[in-house]
Amino acid sequence: MLFNDLGLDQRLIKKLHHLAFEKPTEIQQTAIPVGILGKDILASSKTGSGKTLAFLLPAMQRMYRSKPFTRRDPRVVVLTPTRELAKQVFAQLRTLNAGTPYDGTLIVGGENFNDQVKALRNDPMFVIATPGRLADHLEHRSTSLDGLEMLILDEADRMLDLGFEAQLRRIHEAASHRRRQTMMFSATLDHQDVVSIASDMLKEPKRISV
Ligand code: AMP
Repeated sequence: MLFNDLGLDQRLIKKLHHLAFEKPTEIQQTAIPVGILGKDILASSKTGSGKTLAFLLPAMQRMYRSKPFTRRDPRVVVLTPTRELAKQVFAQLRTLNAGTPYDGTLIVGGENFNDQVKALRNDPMFVIATPGRLADHLEHRSTSLDGLEMLILDEADRMLDLGFEAQLRRIHEAASHRRRQTMMFSATLDHQDVVSIASDMLKEPKRISV
C-alpha cells in the first residue's frame, strides 16, 4: 500500500515524497483513511510506529479542505504527556506545514508563560501542548477552544498515569464544539482510566489495534 491509496490530498503526497517517506506504516494505513473521514479514533500504538503522522496528516488534510476561516481560535490541539514529545510532534508538524498558512505553536511547561500568551494571540491553527500548561492558559483566557475542530490525545495512558485527568477533562470541556473530531492514541487500550476517559470524550470511535 502507498500513501496515494489512503485518500490524501496531493499536496500532502508531494510533501511526503520530499521527506522521502515511501510507504505508510501499519498505523498510518489504518488510521489515516478513518481520520480523513472525520471519524473519532481510539488507537493502540507504540512509539516508533509512525503514529505522529497518522494524526498529523488527517489534521493537515482537514485544514486544506476547510472553508475559509472566520474564527481565530486554534483549529487543532495535540496533547502529549511530556515536553520532549510535544517538541517532537511540533518538529513533525513543521515538516508538513512549511509554506502553508497553517501555522502552529508549542505550549509546554517550563517555558515563559507571557511569551506563550503572545504566541497564542497570533492565532495559531495548531497548538501542540502538554495538558497542564494548556489548562493554565485556558484559565488565564490566553486562548479559547470554541472553534476547535480536532482534539488529539497522544499517549493518553501516560498522560493519565502522570495525573493529568482533570486537565484533560477541562480542555475537553472547553473544546466541546459540535463538529469536533477526537483521536486518542494510547500504548494500551485496556487501561481502566483510558477506557473511562475514552467513553466520555469519543463518539462511536473506530477502534484500531496494530
Ligand atoms: P513516531 O512513531 O510517530 O514517533 O515516528 C517514528 C519515526 O518514524 C519518526 O522519525 C518518523 O519521522 C518516522 N516515520 C513515520 N512515518 C514513516 C514512514 N511512513 N516511513 C518512514 N519513516 C516514517
